[in-house]
Amino acid sequence: MGKIKLFKGIIYTIIFALFPLTLAALTASSVVFHALIKDQNEEIRGLRSEVERLTSIVDGMKDAPEDDPSDTEARKATAPFRKWFLNIHSVMDPGSGEDKPVPETIANDMTFEICPDFKQDITLQNGIETGKAYLTFDDGPSVYTNEILDILNEYEVKATFFVINTKIENYDIILKRIVDEGHTLGMHSASHIYEKIYKSVNAFVSDLNNNFTYIWEATGIKPQIMRFAGGSINSYNSGIASDLIKNISERGFVYYDWNVSTGDTSLPRPDSDRIVRNVLDNINGRDRIIILAHDTITKGETVKALPRIIAGVREAGFEFDRLTPDIPLMSLKSRK
Ligand code: ZN
Repeated sequence: MGKIKLFKGIIYTIIFALFPLTLAALTASSVVFHALIKDQNEEIRGLRSEVERLTSIVDGMKDAPEDDPSDTEARKATAPFRKWFLNIHSVMDPGSGEDKPVPETIANDMTFEICPDFKQDITLQNGIETGKAYLTFDDGPSVYTNEILDILNEYEVKATFFVINTKIENYDIILKRIVDEGHTLGMHSASHIYEKIYKSVNAFVSDLNNNFTYIWEATGIKPQIMRFAGGSINSYNSGIASDLIKNISERGFVYYDWNVSTGDTSLPRPDSDRIVRNVLDNINGRDRIIILAHDTITKGETVKALPRIIAGVREAGFEFDRLTPDIPLMSLKSRK
């Protein structure tokens, strides 16, 4: 009996004295464990973003055209060097893939209160060239941009992309591809939120300046033309539209509205047949056409319609070209 009592005593001692100690030890080790896991998670996140960055560089190398060794070199380089390389490359070889003469410019001595450096020399304008068709894609880059570029390549069409600050995977490589293949990159808006950008002239300018920087940093090329989100005159900017136009024109940028629309933003969404008709039914009798299309994740039908649009526009006697600042602006007011 005595032994059993002693044994029980020992068991109770263990349970009542050691249990709280064990609990405390478990709690403490769980706190330490969580702290370690947190550190490790942070490290894993860091490693993951580094892997994504390197993967995008490697993907870029895979996609790089074989015949352009400088481009492959640029993509091989690490990020800061790559940016520097692209800058030097674009200074040495402005508008690579382009045979147009460089337009004449005059110095811009205008001064501005906000974003004073957000300006460029004024480009001297040529007259309107009749018989030209300008395909324009707004709101990219998107998951469809590479496919659009493949089609443009296949049909030997140069086009214009008015992009926003999307951060889709490899956006910088896509933007660089647009430039490298001889198309024009233009500004559209950083945020594309009408209520925000059309609040005031200053709000608009600082948003567009962000868009300018996004394009410049990704490609080493400074965009020279733009398209207003929603067009130069719309229900959000009616009070300040003429001030906006004056401001960006004084900064040396040229804007382009459109005179033919694919209608690809209307609801219910048009199918590719409808999109083709929207364009081809509205081109006859025009001196030049600027076609509005969109490059976003919901515009698969626009991509599908492209080959037929290109063929039909050519059949109607137009020749495709990209927009450059020496080409006279197009406004919704006159659409000429
Ligand atoms: Zn837009």
